[in-house]
Amino acid sequence: MRLVKMELRGFKSFADKTTLVFDKGITAIVGPNGSGKSNISDAVRWVMGEQNVRQLRGQKAEDVIFAGTERRRPQGAAEVSLYFDNSDGTLDVDFAEVVVTRRLFRSGDSEYYINKRPCRMKDIHMLFADTGIGQDSMAVIGQNRVDRILNSKPEDRRIIFEEAAGISRYKGRKQEGLRK
Ligand code: ATP
Ligand code: MG
Repeated sequence: MRLVKMELRGFKSFADKTTLVFDKGITAIVGPNGSGKSNISDAVRWVMGEQNVRQLRGQKAEDVIFAGTERRRPQGAAEVSLYFDNSDGTLDVDFAEVVVTRRLFRSGDSEYYINKRPCRMKDIHMLFADTGIGQDSMAVIGQNRVDRILNSKPEDRRIIFEEAAGISRYKGRKQEGLRK
């Protein structure tokens, strides 16, 4: 599974529809301070179901909607779609391409879609559970988290690596087994 494309419209600094295409290999996003690089990773986390607005560097939910500039009026809604190549079947749906969309209106109404069909946020969480890129995974690591990893004690750092490698789940089960 691979993130191949993303579309943003009205999300933070991306007032107009913006399409980003990720080719195979490594993609680096470069630009001056404040040009919107981190807003792109915020958008990924937002679609994957991040509910904590502070994790998205905001105060309230509607802070993700383009707030307007001197020359442009604010947008009424934010919308982001992530396109995944699912030809290896990592995601448990019968589609070779999976599009996940989240939309938020200023009124507070929220909409979620999988392949353009309305769904609940829970369905998005379930779709990505145990794939390594869902909510709370190590797939998106923010600047502050990098600092925390670098400054942590070796024992704590080990826990982070175990989580990333998917071992912590088994450790938990082992401990449960030993107690029986
Ligand atoms: P740095 O190199 O400093 O990390 P960056 O490229 O990661 O910068 P971002 O943090 O992604 O930059 O973008 C910050 C910009 O996004 C700011 O100019 C801010 O005004 C703008 N921005 C954030 N939220 C909104 C919003 N709701 N509406 C309009 N602009 C927004
Ligand atoms: Mg940044």
